[in-house]
Amino acid sequence: MSDKRVILVVEDNEANQALVQAVLELEGYRVELAASALEALDHLRDRAPDLILMDVQLPGQDGLSLTRQLKADPATNAIPVVALTAHAMTGDRELALRAGCVGYIAKPIDTRTFGAEVRRYLVDTESDRHMVVG
Ligand code: MN
Repeated sequence: MSDKRVILVVEDNEANQALVQAVLELEGYRVELAASALEALDHLRDRAPDLILMDVQLPGQDGLSLTRQLKADPATNAIPVVALTAHAMTGDRELALRAGCVGYIAKPIDTRTFGAEVRRYLVDTESDRHMVVG
């Protein structure tokens, strides 16, 4: 068994999928990909990732609707969700937080800072879980 942290990336754009996956794997995470809400729900039926990166704009059910659904379900509501929002769409960020996301990261991602941003959300949730001080 690998003890790598698992991040589920819900993103329909293949170029973004590849970029996010490459950066996160370099950071030492295991990445699972879903290109739609349906694929994401399929993943989540089997196992819970440590974090979900959620593209807001997906074909079919959008990312914020899926986030609300996950937050309403006791099986998935503890998994932190971070929205991936387009730079220009500042309104998306407020909506993301209201949908239950713990935060958001702007797209296009900055490959120099993306790993640290993601790590911050994982550290936050880890300290919540284990009550680590410091
Ligand atoms: Mn998209």
